[in-house]
Amino acid sequence: MTDCLFCKIVSGDVPAKIVRETGRTLAFRDINPQAPTHVLVIPRDHHPTAAELAVADPSLLGEVVSEAHQVALDEGVAEPGYRIVFNTGPQAGQTVFHVHAHVLGGRGLNWPPG
Ligand code: C5P
Repeated sequence: MTDCLFCKIVSGDVPAKIVRETGRTLAFRDINPQAPTHVLVIPRDHHPTAAELAVADPSLLGEVVSEAHQVALDEGVAEPGYRIVFNTGPQAGQTVFHVHAHVLGGRGLNWPPG
């Protein structure tokens, strides 16, 4: 999708600090980190939300989650714990409508979230 920011990161037209990639996914550091580790994992293909990806290609959603866990391991935050967040829809705070898993770790994370 030509006007999608994360599609432009996939194509290399917008720079990003990439930490992991597979044939179907990309992981890069969030430009406005909310925790010592804050990485976004996206599918290379454009799907607006996690809910839509779950319907269109559930195995790809599984790969995004698996990559999110691998990021946590690579970053040394898998223990004692980290958070995977899919903001879904504007009321939940989604601003980029190319599905992305936030991987947050490296500090205590409050519950319930804001
Ligand atoms: O869940 P939400 O859609 O709000 O998350 C979008 C995220 O994308 C934000 O955390 C923002 O900091 C990040 N972002 C980025 N690189 C950009 C633009 C936005 O990491 N060029």
